[in-house]
Amino acid sequence: MPSMPSAAVRDYPSAHTVASGNVGSRQSLNYMPYWWDAIPAAASDDAKAIPATCDVAIVGSGFTGLSAALTLARAGRAVAVFERNRAGFGASTRNGGQVGSGNQKFRVKTLINLRGRKKAEEMLREGTRMLDHIASFVETEKIDCHFRRSGRFRAAIRPEHYEAMAADMRDLKAITGVESFMVPKSEQTSEIGSDVFFGGSVLPNDASLHPGLYHAGLMQRVVEAGGEILDHAGVTHIEAVPGGFRVSTARGQTTARNVLIASNGYTDGLVPELKRRIVQVGSGIIATGEIPQSLYDRLLPKNRVYGNTNRVFYYFRGAPDARRILWGGRAGRFNHNTSPSAFQHLAQDMLRVFPDLKDVPVTHAWDGTIGYTYDEVPHLGKTAEGLHYALGYCGTGVSRATYFGNKIALQMLERPEGRTSFDDLAFAPFPAHPIARRAVPFVEAWYRVRDTMNF
Ligand SMILES: Cc1cc2nc3c(=O)[nH]c(=O)nc-3n(C[C@H](O)[C@H](O)[C@H](O)COP(=O)(O)OP(=O)(O)OC[C@H]3O[C@@H](n4cnc5c(N)ncnc54)[C@H](O)[C@@H]3O)c2cc1C
Repeated sequence: MPSMPSAAVRDYPSAHTVASGNVGSRQSLNYMPYWWDAIPAAASDDAKAIPATCDVAIVGSGFTGLSAALTLARAGRAVAVFERNRAGFGASTRNGGQVGSGNQKFRVKTLINLRGRKKAEEMLREGTRMLDHIASFVETEKIDCHFRRSGRFRAAIRPEHYEAMAADMRDLKAITGVESFMVPKSEQTSEIGSDVFFGGSVLPNDASLHPGLYHAGLMQRVVEAGGEILDHAGVTHIEAVPGGFRVSTARGQTTARNVLIASNGYTDGLVPELKRRIVQVGSGIIATGEIPQSLYDRLLPKNRVYGNTNRVFYYFRGAPDARRILWGGRAGRFNHNTSPSAFQHLAQDMLRVFPDLKDVPVTHAWDGTIGYTYDEVPHLGKTAEGLHYALGYCGTGVSRATYFGNKIALQMLERPEGRTSFDDLAFAPFPAHPIARRAVPFVEAWYRVRDTMNF
């Protein structure tokens, strides 16, 4: 990834001017993930020739692709990871680095209504294992990425959300044993320096990491295990041939016994069966410049990761390596926005919660793409043509992509421990996919209305 000029030498707009829509010149923000500043020289290679054959060709070099590559390479398979851009270009180096189980995507009772008690309980327990898996993986692999069981504070946007969350946390504990506690509004300054919320829940085992360093560490482990990571080698066509698949890329062809599609929110028409099952949703983040210690400690006294109870969600945290706040939410209208107006709403939300940040500069602004599925759960398995896939994390993919990558690799190796409770879930296409894709901004607008009107 390219390195950027240091924050000190640039004249960044303050959060207040970003929020008011007056941000000066286009050049005054870094339109690149804050995380990229810390990424060491890439372990991937765009000069390396495409191998003529391999056991497994992997499409996509994020957490899913790399986690699968590591498991497969260590089992003695010749693995080639193909990436359309630079390795890690996708969501894996753009995310907020909030690490959870994915269990908060649905209320426990809703999941039981949707899936039946037995399946819902299996999925919730497995979600908890996903969080534990990444924690032990980072430790065993000695990946230096600021992984920390920081805990998560989820702020209630309305008083009734507080009670609903408390009930949900009790249901979750009964099934998974996961500990949590509630913090009422009267005590919430112990968790957050803002009075706009109505208390919240704390999941002390949720975690945080530096996504750029985590991804770089994963890449290094894959290369050490003998896997190849090939940059600027976008896969353009996959064709079944006797004994496997012919995989055409922008830099030549390979023949592979198996193929894994790990393109999540960047899934396009390469495999039409998957394209119909994924809608790409943009998500954006801004990063502030350095915040004075006393203010930082007051705003984020426990230094956790943070979110709220709205349908159109925002999330934030402190940077692990500096006193900055990273604030995320929906992206602007288009992906890969490089205009300040595309990030204004994030600064506005941030200042509503933390007005004291108005004079703090905003130094970085970027976006990325999340892969949404129709039933809002991730899926792994095999297409009718015999291509393996693992994708659709619906915005919670740091732990889940790591876990699903490992599991799909174990399934490719035909190991029984590759089985998951997600294997037998029907993977439905979006009923009118082209419309669903274009409708994302309208659906978001509708959800915002519902959040405001509380229905
Ligand atoms: C702004 C943002 C914030 C987020 N915050 C969080 C968070 O705080 N916590 C959390 O748990 N999750 C978060 N997520 C989600 C999480 O980052 C993803 O779920 C996860 O990284 C997905 O990993 P992946 O490997 O499946 O896909 P990705 O990392 O997106 O990788 C897919 C790769 O496939 C490549 N590709 C696509 N097509 C081809 C092709 N034909 N040939 C070759 N390569 C191809 C793409 O270029 C891309 O690099 C966030 C996502 C975004 C965008």
